[in-house]
Order: sequence, then structure tokens, then C-alpha cells
Amino acid sequence: MTTPAEKIVREIRINPIVPSESVLVATARSMRPKKAEAPAPRDTRTHVETCPFCTGNEHMTPPVLAAYPEEKNWEIRIVENLYPVLRDDRSNPSLSFGLQQTIDGYGRHEVLIDHNQHGIAIHEMSEPHLALLFSVYRDRMEQLYRSNSRLRYVLVFKNFGPAAGASIAHTHSQVIAMPVIPDNVQAEVTNSRAFYRKHHHCIFCSLIDEALTFEATIYDRESGEIRRKINVGQYVIERVGKFIAIKPFASRYEWEVHILPLLHQSDFLRISKQDLADLARVMRRTMARLDAVLGGAQYNYFLHSLPHDVDFEDCAASYHWHIEITPRTSIPSGFELGSGLFVNTVAPEAAAEKLRAVEIP
Ligand SMILES: [Zn+2]
Ligand SMILES: [Zn+2]
Ligand SMILES: [Zn+2]
Repeated sequence: MTTPAEKIVREIRINPIVPSESVLVATARSMRPKKAEAPAPRDTRTHVETCPFCTGNEHMTPPVLAAYPEEKNWEIRIVENLYPVLRDDRSNPSLSFGLQQTIDGYGRHEVLIDHNQHGIAIHEMSEPHLALLFSVYRDRMEQLYRSNSRLRYVLVFKNFGPAAGASIAHTHSQVIAMPVIPDNVQAEVTNSRAFYRKHHHCIFCSLIDEALTFEATIYDRESGEIRRKINVGQYVIERVGKFIAIKPFASRYEWEVHILPLLHQSDFLRISKQDLADLARVMRRTMARLDAVLGGAQYNYFLHSLPHDVDFEDCAASYHWHIEITPRTSIPSGFELGSGLFVNTVAPEAAAEKLRAVEIP
């Protein structure tokens, strides 16, 4: 029997949630259009004298917006971004002309200092700390949505390591509240709503059900012979309490993993205290797996939750919040940028098998 790791895969996989997004999974060596250079190593120091985000240098950061548990002995701090991509001043009112339509770059851009230790990675943080971090995400999102009704989406994300575009070495996340809904969130929300209208079922819940189906056999209708045996459970990386980490069947990135609540929930703001602890655990364990397999993971992760927007008020049953983790192991090639087709050179089944095999302390 061949293991998924040995099998050569060369197929275009359609993202079940956003079908316009497809991925060329091509594991044959000759199909490898991009070559990952060894990424610049990440900064692993605990404390850096000159780092404005390190303890003792609090006076060097932009104004502090919040600190947890308190400013004096902070573990997590939120500060203004010195170079915000969006801000709430009105000094540059936008002017639209002809086809050159613009929307005010109104919004907020904040930096969340994840930890008082400079180069600590997510899998090295304690689970109570991670639970606090996720509760800070939740509370800040809620405050921002409440602060102004013109804000249509609050995006929380993290860039970790120079390969993932982190310009500040000290571990941090970012919160951007914006006057538009990002394209990819909009596509997920509208497509899952269409699926719900047709099937009366959340597509994300269906994907979880499929992932938890351990074997499916397809028989030939005429002869009754087995045509194909599929092990769908092979996409599960981790199951902790009320959460699951899945390797998407149509993964855009070689080591992409998604984390979802097992029970349906559309809005991350509704997460309970108990669930925060489970989320912290599944996150730490998944990151430890990625770090072990990649030998130091540099990644982006981002949170997709139901937008607080009148256009999507009817999507509570059809949308399902999740965290997408996208480790960076290569740079997009011209083929990918020109075609819009992602190329993934590691079969998601094989990647999942490797991630599952990691022994976690
Ligand atoms: Zn630092
Ligand atoms: Zn669901
Ligand atoms: Zn998403």
C-alpha cells in the first residue's frame, strides 16, 4: 500500500467554501516552480535593551491603549501603531473621479504586544497566557465595533518572523478596524450563505463532519465493486475539547492549518471562557507541530469572524468563525501571481500525516 507521502499528486483542487479560489497541488519535483530560500532566522532573544516593546522601555512606545492585567506588571499591551495603514482623522477627505472611486481610509490600526518576552513563539507561551491573548482579541474587537458604526470589519492577525513580513521582531499581533469588508471574508460569508439557503446546513460544519468521517467507500453502481476508498479523517491534525485543527483539502500553502470550533458559532465575540482555554490548547499544540516539522515556523495567522454589518445579519447560522494559519515556506511565483492559482508542492494528506506524527510535550 502506498502512503499518501509517496503518491505523486497533480491536480487542481477547488476550495469548497470559495470555489473561485483554486490550488494546483503538484508534488512531482519537476512541478516545483518556486524554491524556498532559507528564511532569515527569527529573533529568539528574551529581552532586548533597545526594543520599545520590551519591559522597561514602556516610555518608548506610542500611547498605550490598554494593558493586561495592568500597566505596571503587563503581560499584554495594546498601543497605537506609529505607521497606521488606516486612521481616524479626516485630514485627507477622499475625492472620487469617474472610474477612480475611493472610500475614506478611515479606521484604526493598533499593535497588540502579545507577551513581555521579546522573541517568544506562540507554542512557547503558557496556555493561560494564550487564553488571555484570545480574550484580549475578543474584547478589543468588541470595543472597536462599538466605537463607531462605520467600521464594518475588525481584522486581527499576526505576522511572525521576517519571512512572514514582521517588521518588528518583538512578538506582536495587529488589529485593523476598517470601513470595508475584506474580499476573502466577503466571499466566505456570501458563499456559505448561498450554501445554507440550498442545503439548510453550515458548510463549515459539513466540512468538520467530513473530516470526522474516518472512511468512505465509493462503489461502482453497476458492478458493485469498490471504486475508491477515501479516508477523510486524514485531514484532522488535532482535536482538543471543543476545537479542531484541520489541514484543508485545498490548502493554498504547504503547511496551512485551520482551527475551528467544533460546535457551530459564527461570531468569535461569543466565545466563552471555557472555550478560550480549549482554543489556547489547540493553538499551542498546533503551533508546536508546525514548529517541529518546519524547524522554526514563520507564519501569518488571521481570524475570520462574522462581520458586524447589516448586509450579513442573516448569516449567523451559515457562517462559522475560524483561524487560518499560513506558514511561509516560499515566495509566490510569477505563475501564481499571473494566474491567481496557488501552487502547493506538498500533498495536504502527507502534510497532515507529518503534523499528526509530532510528539508534543
Ligand atoms: Zn522586545
Ligand atoms: Zn457551522
Ligand atoms: Zn477564512
